[in-house]
Amino acid sequence: MAVIIDGKEVAREKREQIKARVEELKKQGKSVGLAVIIVGENPASRVYVNNKKKGCLEVGIESFEYALPESTTEEELKALVEKLNNDDRVNGILCQLPLPKHINEDAVINTISPEKDVDAFHPQNVGHIMIGDYTFLPCTPAGIMEMLKFYNISVSGKKCVVIGRSNIVGKPMAMLLLKENGTVEICHSRTENLKNETLSADILVAAVGKTKFVTEDMVKQGAVVIDVGMNRDEDGKLCGDVDFINVEKKASYITPVPGGVGPMTITMLLENTVRAVEK
Ligand code: NAP
Repeated sequence: MAVIIDGKEVAREKREQIKARVEELKKQGKSVGLAVIIVGENPASRVYVNNKKKGCLEVGIESFEYALPESTTEEELKALVEKLNNDDRVNGILCQLPLPKHINEDAVINTISPEKDVDAFHPQNVGHIMIGDYTFLPCTPAGIMEMLKFYNISVSGKKCVVIGRSNIVGKPMAMLLLKENGTVEICHSRTENLKNETLSADILVAAVGKTKFVTEDMVKQGAVVIDVGMNRDEDGKLCGDVDFINVEKKASYITPVPGGVGPMTITMLLENTVRAVEK
């Protein structure tokens, strides 16, 4: 049976440290503020935004919410971002994705000042991640690296297989594992014979978005399995990409969903917001 990686516990400890840093900044007369923009009525986005606001409150970061109607134009949204770029109370700006179809997400992300881009999506920050010189950490992958560190799981020299190549998870995940000297492979929907690849993994990260995609026969005995997926099963219950019950028997460590990667993603957003002030 695998050790279950407790993302909530790692997040709790990390948030304590962040809270102390916020208090220290406040003693120096500096405020820490995060602006969160949400456009439209996507229920999942609403849950994420509420959790982000709750996280801010917990560590003493001031949050400013901008809830805009679905009909907001790209120009209006970019104008708001520009305004926040110039607002001294705001150290971090987050625009909850996805945006309505009529708005070009890249154009909006590119408008966020790289110094306030706490999601680390701006091309300038993506470039920093590529060269391993971080201003802001990519939240989900950075949260995963924190969990590995917390459980003393060494990456150096290990075969790491990441399933998924999105700009938000898969690609930056591969970069962070590489920085820690992992031997890294990225798989995707065109990968031939995926099982052959995943069976060689000492550390397997699943970021696919498909329920029970990673099955027991795809996992090497004793592998560390990180489940990034956030899906709904047929009963509407939150679940990951990994067939947890069966894979757990084979893995050495495994993250559950919920309670694994999710709590760490928001924690790293808080970390980036504090970094924005400390820098
Ligand atoms: P995404 O942009 O849809 O990317 C999914 C990736 O999976 C793509 O690279 C895709 O390959 C690959 N894929 C799809 N079918 C595959 C197959 N049959 N075999 C191999 N690879 C396949 O998703 P994402 O934004 O990275 O998110 C992935 C999951 O993580 C989602 O469930 C999302 O909700 C979750 N997530 C969780 C957190 C968190 O905090 N826990 C944060 C972000 C995302 P192609 O590129 O070839 O299409």
